[in-house]
Amino acid sequence: MSTNHKKILNDTRKRLVQGLLSVKSINEIDDLNTKFLGRQGEVNQLFKTLPLKGNPEIGKAINELKKFCFEKLSEKTSEVLNANSKEYLDVTVPGIRPSKGSIHPITQAINDIEQIFDKLGFVRRRYPEVETDWYYAEGLNIPKDHPARDDQETFYLDDGVVLTAHTSNGQLHEMEKVKIPPIKMINIGKTYRRQTDATHIPMFHQFEGLIVDKGINISHLIGITDFFAKSFFGNDRVIRLRPHHFQFTEPSFEIDISCGLCNGSGVIEGSPCKICKSGWLELGGAGMVHPNVLKNGGIDPDEYSGIAFGWGVERVFMMKSGKNIPDIRLLYTDDLRFLKQF
Ligand SMILES: [Zn+2]
Repeated sequence: MSTNHKKILNDTRKRLVQGLLSVKSINEIDDLNTKFLGRQGEVNQLFKTLPLKGNPEIGKAINELKKFCFEKLSEKTSEVLNANSKEYLDVTVPGIRPSKGSIHPITQAINDIEQIFDKLGFVRRRYPEVETDWYYAEGLNIPKDHPARDDQETFYLDDGVVLTAHTSNGQLHEMEKVKIPPIKMINIGKTYRRQTDATHIPMFHQFEGLIVDKGINISHLIGITDFFAKSFFGNDRVIRLRPHHFQFTEPSFEIDISCGLCNGSGVIEGSPCKICKSGWLELGGAGMVHPNVLKNGGIDPDEYSGIAFGWGVERVFMMKSGKNIPDIRLLYTDDLRFLKQF
């Protein structure tokens, strides 16, 4: 074997060793493997270019080079695999903690409300949010062209179908479903109104309670409201009833709850409380179910009486949080910086 031939073999060996120095990944090793040991690789080319005939030592030397390349590439492969697995198993490297999800505060409030009324034996119901005029208004003692309809301006679809502005439509559905009292339901659902500003949103939630039985009276309403107020807001909270007018209840009331921030005084350190009106927060409407509504639901008002109330989930949530939420729409922007404070 001539010196020149030896040099050619040596150069190939050097190029491989040189190439392996900078290799860091299995892909790069594969590339080198193809470059040197592939069918068209450098080593196989030597079998074609060097004069094998009459020079058996050249063939032997190429085979040795081939073995050398194979061993070096294998060594490097184990090395890289080990390095990668060490990196993977390095328990001292600080991990990336996946952020924990949580229930949206309004969903949490709905769950809490459902549980409180469950203790009193109320059955949770869900009634349509897209409703006909009968269940939405007429059947609830609000005749067509009655001004009370203005208070509940909502989205009108075709053929007198509306998106409900309240959950009271559930009252008639429940009466038709149960037929013979006792009735004790809590209907929690989405409601819609054509409004959007810092204190109003076009979609919000209400929870509607209805009890119909023999001998139901206002004291039941007071007892239930008081139980809800203490369970949801805290034992120190008290309620009051103010006379009001609604078409579907008679008599009707607005119910207030004492403010938790100023403890019902309306004053904090000499200044007026920021979240209440003279110590009271408005919870929402309630009353004795109007006899016409019972009749429309197929129930005899001479035999049975009922109480009903419909309150806003967002409203009670904001009252409970004790925070001065500047814009109710923040609840639905899914901005984690806002939501995380609850
Ligand atoms: Zn207050």
